[in-house]
Amino acid sequence: MEVDVLIVGAGPAGSTTARFCAGRDTDVLMIDRRAEIGYPVQCGEFLPVAKEMHDIFPRSMDLEELFTVDGSVVAGDVTAIDMISPSGKVYRCPFEGLTLDRRSFDKSLVKLAVERGARLETQTSLLSIKDGVAKTTMGEIKAKVIVGADGPRSRTAREAGMRGVSESYPAVTCQADGSFESVVKMYFGSVAPGGYAWIIPKRKGANVGIGFNNRALKQRPSELFQRFVDNLEIEYHDMTMGLVPTSGPVPHTVSGNVLLVGDAAGMVMATNGGGIPTAMIAGRFAGQTIREHLASGSSLDRYEQLWRNAMFKPLKTALRTKWMSDMVFRHDRAVDLTMRLLGRKGLDRTIRCKRVFHVL
Ligand SMILES: Cc1cc2nc3c(=O)[nH]c(=O)nc-3n(C[C@H](O)[C@H](O)[C@H](O)COP(=O)(O)OP(=O)(O)OC[C@H]3O[C@@H](n4cnc5c(N)ncnc54)[C@H](O)[C@@H]3O)c2cc1C
Repeated sequence: MEVDVLIVGAGPAGSTTARFCAGRDTDVLMIDRRAEIGYPVQCGEFLPVAKEMHDIFPRSMDLEELFTVDGSVVAGDVTAIDMISPSGKVYRCPFEGLTLDRRSFDKSLVKLAVERGARLETQTSLLSIKDGVAKTTMGEIKAKVIVGADGPRSRTAREAGMRGVSESYPAVTCQADGSFESVVKMYFGSVAPGGYAWIIPKRKGANVGIGFNNRALKQRPSELFQRFVDNLEIEYHDMTMGLVPTSGPVPHTVSGNVLLVGDAAGMVMATNGGGIPTAMIAGRFAGQTIREHLASGSSLDRYEQLWRNAMFKPLKTALRTKWMSDMVFRHDRAVDLTMRLLGRKGLDRTIRCKRVFHVL
């Protein structure tokens, strides 16, 4: 088979890329190894509103186009984030966001791409890439451009000889029953060494989980998760595990005719673990660049310049903050002390990927 663009992975990165490069004159094929797009849900499902995203990434433009989501995929509204120290002190940071129904959200993004003319094949995996030809479980596909939007363990990156994500944290999540305050709770300290445990409220129930550095503690993610949910005394279902890239953006996101987008490119905010918005911001740049490339032969390297200009600095700042907190956050007492020194304002800056240590 021959297509103009092959997109590996139909998560937020892949479907947004497809949405912005598909068209009557461009044949775009998305493949995803999952049987159902968006399921299982390996996510906390939190999405900041556009104005909060603009505060984090001031150089990014037209965010309403990306983050104005249909009410049918919204499971709750959030007004603030509580950052909770090991001793139980609460630092409340006003922050507006949505809790998504990620199972529906990912499908809604694919629908937008399909409306523009992109096609989707589920239960189809990329196996290898040789001489520009992708070998997949549905046969060989020759593409002018290949997009790796296939998550932190990107096979596309490996097959294209590109450096992929070098470190990821395990994260376990579930759907909890019950009613919860419309505030995100982030718990720090030995409850989730090097990361945090969360409650992200929905109108009905909540997304509850933990993400942590398993080098900081040699414990199975499921054990740590169990301890957290047992303490909360909640009923839950749909427990899943996933990986959150924590090594920052990869050094090159373009090589020949291959582009990496989203988690495959390490585009996650290291201080909060959020990667949906960054995947979509980069996906739009990737789609637009590919479209121009196919129309006029312009360089695909433009994608690298565009996403770096919009997002690299805050992503790097967050990564530095995380490195520093990894050094300090070794014991609960040190976590308590650091959070007290930073105070509400400093902590607010950390989740917004802004420099914090100069405020100490
Ligand atoms: C437990 C957990 C909680 C999180 N919570 C949040 C949160 O609350 N808010 C937030 O913004 N971010 C959160 N994240 C991060 C967020 O989920 C990711 O950053 C986001 O999904 C990245 O989108 P993506 O499209 O790059 O990758 P993905 O959404 O992972 O999509 C990749 C797709 O590629 C497919 N794929 C993989 N390999 C192949 C292959 N070889 N062939 C074909 N298809 C393939 C997969 O099936 C998948 O559908 C969380 C992550 C985890 C693990």
